[in-house]
Amino acid sequence: MTINRVPFRCQVCQSELFYDREVKLNTTGAELFDLGWANQSATGLVCARCGYVHLFLNNAIELWKPESGYPQP
Ligand SMILES: [Zn+2]
Repeated sequence: MTINRVPFRCQVCQSELFYDREVKLNTTGAELFDLGWANQSATGLVCARCGYVHLFLNNAIELWKPESGYPQP
């Protein structure tokens, strides 16, 4: 995947493969912590190798399927 066309790797294991998962921030739990500013959905990217979750709030993320090749800089 890339962010603003910049290839992104897992911060832990440098893997390039992630599972994406939409994360709703306007949950009861979020409201408990008064996160009104976060009343939106975020994108959670779960590293396919180590499971580390990277959480993003912007729309610049582009996911690439492994079979279609990793984007070259
Ligand atoms: Zn990882």
